[in-house]
Formats: sequence, structure tokens, C-alpha cells
Amino acid sequence: MALIVQKFGGTSVGTVERIEQVAEKVKKFREGGDDIVVVVSAMSGETNRLIELAKQISEQPVPRELDVMVSTGEQVTIALLAMALIKRGVQAVSYTGNQVRILTDSAHNKARILQIDDQKIRADLKAGRVVVVAGFQGVDEHGNITTLGRGGSDTTGVALAAALKADECQIYTDVDGVYTTDPRVVPQAQRLDKITFEEMLEMASLGSKVLQIRSVEFAGKYNVPLRVLHSFQEGPGTLITLDEEESMEQPIISGIAFNRDEAKLTIRGVPDIPGVAFKILGPISAANIEVDMIVQNVAHDNTTDFTFTVHRNDYQNAQRVLEQTANELGAREVIGDTKIAKVSIVGVGMRSHAGVASRMFEALAKETINIQMISTSEIKVSVVIEEKYLELAVRALHTAFELDAPNRQGE
Ligand code: ADP
Ligand code: ASP
Ligand code: MG
Repeated sequence: MALIVQKFGGTSVGTVERIEQVAEKVKKFREGGDDIVVVVSAMSGETNRLIELAKQISEQPVPRELDVMVSTGEQVTIALLAMALIKRGVQAVSYTGNQVRILTDSAHNKARILQIDDQKIRADLKAGRVVVVAGFQGVDEHGNITTLGRGGSDTTGVALAAALKADECQIYTDVDGVYTTDPRVVPQAQRLDKITFEEMLEMASLGSKVLQIRSVEFAGKYNVPLRVLHSFQEGPGTLITLDEEESMEQPIISGIAFNRDEAKLTIRGVPDIPGVAFKILGPISAANIEVDMIVQNVAHDNTTDFTFTVHRNDYQNAQRVLEQTANELGAREVIGDTKIAKVSIVGVGMRSHAGVASRMFEALAKETINIQMISTSEIKVSVVIEEKYLELAVRALHTAFELDAPNRQGE
């Protein structure tokens, strides 16, 4: 008898009919003899709807109150699913994050799980109940409701699986696994049988939102067997594995990630003297703005142009801070661009193959796509390009690295 944590995402519980379907599925597993803990998201669109409501009161809602509000979405789905299970004769009980006691820090809207009390859940499982837990939410040491950031139910699922030492954490969603890239953008994308935690972490960090970044971090840290599956179609899904050996058959590149979440800022004509990078980025970091990619170019006149990217939500703030710095340093100007996108190729195979980056640049050159910034690590190469070329770039790279499904090439 296995202990399985099953997480169902927003579209999988998007209507009452779907919740009934999920209940059927859980019932089958339960009848197979497994102990089941289910984690559910809010019905699809509900979290967005709640955030929109809050924004009608204030453009930047008070984080604590926003958590009180957005956590309600998941409270609805746990109750509906528990009802649907009980209706089918399956013993079930639902719990909010607070009731389980998913203890988090107090960073509202992006809290981190610190500890999970597994006692209550274990007692329920022992009594033969299916336990249905609200994803995305927890409680801090002062009893305040917290949430874990968008997509956070994945992390609840994995964290519960780690705390309960579950045999597997199954993430059920609206695609049948992790693909070489978002199958909604590239129809030729292929499902991967396996991907390493390391690669999945890069994919998630670089924009593939099929799993929340923290859920992958958690799974890697606690070695939780993690699988992504379709909620309503049979299939093996994708296993996220620790073992690189198992992925040896995979090509150099496992996948292509992309995002439109960033914006670019350039400060031009700064005197090229020691400490200038710190003078530019110090105030940005003091304003709590995270910087992603950085490029610095030195001109003939001993000045430098310094470019970096930030999250689009931080763009205006960053621009304000940079204007101030430009004044202080006597820089020529500050320019910004929000119409950029970042495309990344990811794969552990890169470690043992030279020339991967140049193959990427060649593929983009063939499509006359200009590369504005580049950053590399051991298992990824990222470029910033004009946003309007994003889909073209992803498709071209998918083909160049021979990731297209064999029977769908050139579709
Ligand atoms: P859920 O609501 O179940 O949590 P999400 O919308 O968060 O579902 O994640 C599933 C979506 O992730 C898919 O519909 C797909 O469009 C997107 N996605 C992005 N990149 C990938 C990828 N590499 N493989 C599979 N899906 C991906
Ligand atoms: N409902 C939350 C969101 O939309 C959490 C989740 O779905 O994982 O972000
Ligand atoms: Mg999700």
C-alpha cells in the first residue's frame, strides 16, 4: 500500500463536473488500497478574479489582506471535492493550510513553508480517510494567513509529500507531462519521459510555469519522487528524477523555456571607473528590486553603457531609481524597453558538448533575430530578444536542436 499525494490544478477543478471527475479518479486510487492526500488549487480564473477585486480597492493591496482574500479560492475547492468524495461513499475530510498547520514565514504573497505538522493527516489516513488540503496557503507563527506565490499549490503538494515521506507526488494538470517547450506555443513539442530536477529547476526558473520553481527546489532537496500527469487522460506523464544517468539518452538540450516577464534598462555614458557597477546596482538592490541579466560595454571615450533586466512589475520603480543615479553620476541618459523577451535553452547534455551556444546564435541569425543580451551557466544559455520575435525564436530553436516530434516536423 502506497502513500500518494495528488495535486490537481485550477483547470482540473475548474467546474463542478470536473471536481466530480477528480473525485472519481481519487476514488479509484483509494479503492486500489493506496492512502491518498489530495491538494487542490482554486477553480481556474478564481485567483485572478480575487486579485482583480482587490485592485478595485487599491492598485497595491495590503499584502496581508490580499492573502486573506486569495486564500478563499482554495477553501471552496477543498470543500467541494470532499463533498464529492463523501457522496461517492469515500470517507474524506478537508483542511485549510491553517488547519493542517502548514507553517510559513511571514512574507505575505510569497511565503516559504517552514514546517508541516503531519500528525492530523496521519491520524486521518490511519482512520481510512482521504485528506483534502488547500494548496497555495499556510499560516505564520502569529496566526496570519499567508500564500506561497502564484502556482503555489504545486509547492504545497511537494512539501506535504516530503513531510509525509510519500511514495510519490503526482501533479495532475491540463497537459500530459513536461514538454520540450510549452506545447501551446510549439505544437511539435514532445513530452519528456524524464527530466532531472536540475533541468526542471532551470526550466521553471526561466519561465516554464508548468511547475512552480519552489516545488522543484523542494522536490530536489528532499528527493520527493515527482511526476507530472494529465488529470483526465491516461499516460505515464513525466518523471522528475535525481539521476542524471537515467537521462543519458536525452539530447544535448532537454527543453526551451521563455518568458515575457522582464524589462530592460540602460544607463548610458557613465564614467568608466572602479565601483561603477556597485553605484548603479546598489540603489536598485536597496529598493528591493531583483536584477537578472547584466551587460556592460565600454566606449572609446572612457564611459560605459550599463544594461540590466528586472521584472516588468519593478520596471517603473527601477527606472526612477536609475534616473536618480544617472544624475548623481553625470551619466548621459537612461533608456528603457519593456518589449523584450528571454529565451533559454536548457540541458545537462551541454556540460559535455561544445558549441551549443553558437548553434543557438546561428539558428537565431538565420531568422534575422537580433540578440540583445546573453547569459550562460553550465546547463543553460539565455538570450534577450525583441518580444515580437519570441514565438519565431522558440520554434526555430526547437527545430535547430532537433526537438520536433518526428511525425510533426514542419507542420
Ligand atoms: P495548473 O493549473 O494545473 O497548475 P498550469 O497552467 O500552472 O496548470 O501549468 C500547466 C501549463 O503549463 C500548460 O497548460 C502549458 O501551457 C504550460 N507549460 C509551459 N511550459 C511547459 C512545458 N515545458 N511543458 C508542459 N507545459 C508547459
Ligand atoms: N490558485 C493559485 C494561483 O492561481 C495557486 C495555484 O493554482 O497553484 O496561483
Ligand atoms: Mg500551476
